[in-house]
Amino acid sequence: MAAAFDTIVVGLGAMGSATAHQLARRGRRVLGLDRWTPPHAFGSSHGQTRIIREAYFEDPRYVPLVQRAYEAWRELERDASCPLLLETGGLMIGPPDGVLVAGARRSADQHHLRHEMLTAAEIRARFPALAPDDDMVAVWEPRAGVLFPEACVAAQLAMARRHGATLQCDEPVLRWQPSGDGVRVVTARGAYEAASLVLTAGSWTRSLLPDLVLPLTVARQTLYWFTPQRNAGAFAPERCPIHLWEHARGRYIYGFPDLGEGVKAARHHEGTIADPDTIDREVRAEEVDAMRAMVARYLPDAAGALRWAAVCMYTNTPDEHFLVAPHPTHAQVLIASPCSGHGFKFAPVVGEALADLATQGRSSIDLSLFGWRFT
Ligand SMILES: Cc1cc2nc3c(=O)[nH]c(=O)nc-3n(C[C@H](O)[C@H](O)[C@H](O)COP(=O)(O)OP(=O)(O)OC[C@H]3O[C@@H](n4cnc5c(N)ncnc54)[C@H](O)[C@@H]3O)c2cc1C
Repeated sequence: MAAAFDTIVVGLGAMGSATAHQLARRGRRVLGLDRWTPPHAFGSSHGQTRIIREAYFEDPRYVPLVQRAYEAWRELERDASCPLLLETGGLMIGPPDGVLVAGARRSADQHHLRHEMLTAAEIRARFPALAPDDDMVAVWEPRAGVLFPEACVAAQLAMARRHGATLQCDEPVLRWQPSGDGVRVVTARGAYEAASLVLTAGSWTRSLLPDLVLPLTVARQTLYWFTPQRNAGAFAPERCPIHLWEHARGRYIYGFPDLGEGVKAARHHEGTIADPDTIDREVRAEEVDAMRAMVARYLPDAAGALRWAAVCMYTNTPDEHFLVAPHPTHAQVLIASPCSGHGFKFAPVVGEALADLATQGRSSIDLSLFGWRFT
C-alpha cells in the first residue's frame, strides 16, 4: 500500500537535508530517502571543511545568495546548538587581471563588500604561512571562512526530524514515475506516493533521470591533509585564512588553516571523469607528490608528511553554474544539482528555494542563473 506525502526528497546530502528541513518547518509531510546514512563519505559533502566566501569571483549574482546563506547557517547553528561556521577571513590570490582576483574584486565593488587589495609583500607580511609569487596580488575579505559539512548535514537532518519529517536511510530509490498530478517513487524497500518530488541525488542525478540528456559530468577530486614541517603556529585559524590561488590562468588550488587535522589543500577542478558507482577511492602516491609540490611552492612550511587523503566528487555543469529547476515535462518534479565544486555554502538557500517551488511554484530567491540552458 503506497504511503502519501506532500513531498518526497531523494538524496539527503547537503541539498536534500536542507530541503527536507525547509519543507518540514513549513508543516509539509516530507519523506526523505537516501541510499546511505548521511552524513557519509561517498558523495560530495564530506572531508571536514568547505569554504564560504562572499566576494564571489564566479559571478556577482551569487552575492545576495551567499549573504542569505550566512544568515541561514547562523540560524541553523542557534537552532541545532552546534558550531557550523568559523569565519577566518579569506584571500583570493593570483594575477591582478586573472579570473579569481578580477572576479572577486568585481563582486566586492558591485556589492560594496568590505575588502582590501594586498600586494605579494603584504600577503607574506600579514600571513606568514603563505608564499605568493611576486606578481600575485590578493583580495582579502574578512567574512570568508569554513563550514563543517558533516555537522551541517547532520544539523539539517536533525532539524528536519524535529519538525516532523520522515527520513529513511539505507533505502536506495530505484525509479520514479508521474502518478496523476503527483509522483510514485519505488525504492529497494517499497513504493511511496507524493504530490511532488525533489531530486537532490548529487553525483547520481543522471541515473534518476534516464530520459533526459543532462550535461552533468562527475569528476574525481582528491583532498590532502599535510603536517606542517615547521612554523605550525602560522597555520592556526587566527593567523591563516582560507585561501584560493589562481596559480596559472584558470587553474586553482585552495586551502584551509590547520583545524587540528593538518593543513588541508586541494585542486579546484582538473579531476578525472568518473562514474559515481565505480569511482577509484584510493589516492595514489604520485597524486600526493604532485599536490605536495604545489603546497611546497605556495605554503612551503606545510609541505610535511601526508596525514590523510580522501576522494570526493564534483558534479559539473558545462558553465559551472548550478542546475535548480523543475523537470522540463513534469512540473511536480524539481531537480537540483548545485555543485560544480562550489555549491555547499548555498545549501540552506537552495533548500529554501526548492521548498518555495514545491509549495508555491515560485520563489523570491533569484534562481535565474540556474535554469535550463542546455540544448
Ligand atoms: C572536494 C570537494 C570540495 C568542495 N569544496 C567546496 C567548498 O569549499 N565550498 C562550497 O561551497 N562547495 C564546495 N564543494 C561543493 C559541495 O560540496 C557540493 O556542492 C555539495 O556537497 C553537493 O551536495 P548535494 O546534496 O548535491 O550532493 P551530496 O551531498 O553528495 O548528496 C547526494 C545524496 O544523494 C544520495 N543518493 C544518490 N542516489 C540516490 C538514490 N538512487 N536513492 C537515494 N539516495 C540517493 C547520496 O547517497 C547522497 O547522500 C566541494 C565539493 C567537493 C567534492
